[in-house]
Amino acid sequence: MKLALLSRAPQSYSTGRLRQAAEDRGHEVRVLNTLRFGIDLAGGVPDLRYRGSQLSDYDAILPRIGNSITYFGTAVVRQFEQMDVYTPNTSNGITNSRDKLRASQILARHGIGMPETAFVRNRADVKPAIESVGGAPVVIKLLEGTQGVGVILAPQVKVAEAIIETLHSTNQNVLIQRFVQESAGRDIRALVVGDRVVAAMRRTAAGDEFRSNVHRGGSVEAVKLDAAYEEAAVRSAQIMGLRVAGVDMLEGDEGPLVMEVNSSPGLEGIERATGLDVAGAIIDFISNQVAFPEIDVRQRLSVSTGYGVAELQVHAGAELIGKTLGDSGLWERDITVLTLHRGVQVIPNPRKHVVLEDDDRLLCFGKLEEMRSLIPARSARRQRIHKLPKDALDEYGDAASSTEDL
Ligand code: ADP
Ligand code: MG
Repeated sequence: MKLALLSRAPQSYSTGRLRQAAEDRGHEVRVLNTLRFGIDLAGGVPDLRYRGSQLSDYDAILPRIGNSITYFGTAVVRQFEQMDVYTPNTSNGITNSRDKLRASQILARHGIGMPETAFVRNRADVKPAIESVGGAPVVIKLLEGTQGVGVILAPQVKVAEAIIETLHSTNQNVLIQRFVQESAGRDIRALVVGDRVVAAMRRTAAGDEFRSNVHRGGSVEAVKLDAAYEEAAVRSAQIMGLRVAGVDMLEGDEGPLVMEVNSSPGLEGIERATGLDVAGAIIDFISNQVAFPEIDVRQRLSVSTGYGVAELQVHAGAELIGKTLGDSGLWERDITVLTLHRGVQVIPNPRKHVVLEDDDRLLCFGKLEEMRSLIPARSARRQRIHKLPKDALDEYGDAASSTEDL
C-alpha cells in the first residue's frame, strides 16, 4: 500500500518507528507535514494539495495530529475521508477524544467506568459539584490538557474553589473529578489497535507526584491486563471511533476507570516497556483495512428519500419481547436490523431466530415513517423538565433570556 504519515515531527521516535515498520513490510510510505496541506474545494470532486501541488494518490493515512493543530489537522483528515482514503482514526474520532469533557459525555452513555466527573460554570454550582464527586482532595482538569499539564490536585475545597474560579475568570473551562486515591500515582496505558489491546503498561509517578505521565517523570513497566481492563480499553476506543488509540485507565477498587483516550499515542514508552513491535501491529492493521475506507453510514444511507437509520429500543412490556426477530414484523415494514446491542454485547447482522429481550437496542435501516411509529414518546425525564414549576427556572436570570434566540 501507499501510506502517508501525517506528522509534524518526522524525527520523533514514533514517526521513525512507523515509517520503518511500513518500509520493512514493503509498503511505500511518506511523512507529510500536516500543516502543508491545502484543501481544495473548487472542483467537483474532493481534492488536496500538498506544498502547493496536487497530492498523488494514497491508499491510507495515519494521522498523528498534535493538540496545537486539532482544527486544521482534523480538517485535513476529513478531506482524506471525503476522498475515500482509509484512515484508522477519523476526524470525528480525533475531535471527540481530544476534549476530555466531550469524550466523557460520549463514553458515559455506553456504561464505561469513569471517575465521577462534574462540569459547571456558575460560581454557585462549584462547591456542590466538588461535593458531588466526593469532596477534597479533588482533581481539576483543563479540557484539552495533555502530558499531565493542566491536571491539578486540590487538597481542600476552598483551594479547589479558588483555582476553579480563577480559571473560569480567564474563560477556561474545567472538569471537576473525584481523586481516585486507590490509584494515586499510578495508571494503566493500553495501546488499542483495531479490536484488541496490542500492548499495555503501568505508569508510576515519580516521588510524591500524583500524575504518572512519562513526561512528568513517570516510570513504566509492562503489565498483563485483566479481561475487564482489556474490554474497557477496546470498547472506549471503538466508541470514540479510533482504531489506533492509547487508553488511560486508573485502577479503581471496582475495576478500570477510563480517564481519556488518546488518538496519537506515543510509542516510545510502551515499546520500551513491553519490548513489543507496536508500530508493526499498527501498520499491519492498516494494510488489512485499506479496502474499507471510513464512510459516514448515516449520511450515505439517508440519500434515498424517506429512508434512514434509527435506533429502536425494546422497552419493558413491549410486545416485541420474547419474539424472534423473524416474527417481529420489522422486515414486513421495510426495516432491516443492522446490529443488535444487548448490554455490552453487540450482535452484527442478527439472524431471524434471535429472540428479543427487554432493553435490547436495534440499529435499523428502513422507512423513516415506519420507524417513527416504533420510537416511543420522549422519556419521562425530559417531560419532567417541562413540568418544572416556574420558580425553578428563575435562576437562569436575565443573562440567559437576553441571549435567547427569539
Ligand atoms: P493528560 O491528558 O494531561 O495526560 P490525564 O487526565 O490523563 O491528563 O491525567 C494525567 C495523570 O494524572 C494521569 O495519568 C493520572 O496519573 C493522574 N490522574 C488524572 N486524573 C486522576 C484522578 N481522577 N485520580 C487520580 N489520579 C488522576
Ligand atoms: Mg493522560
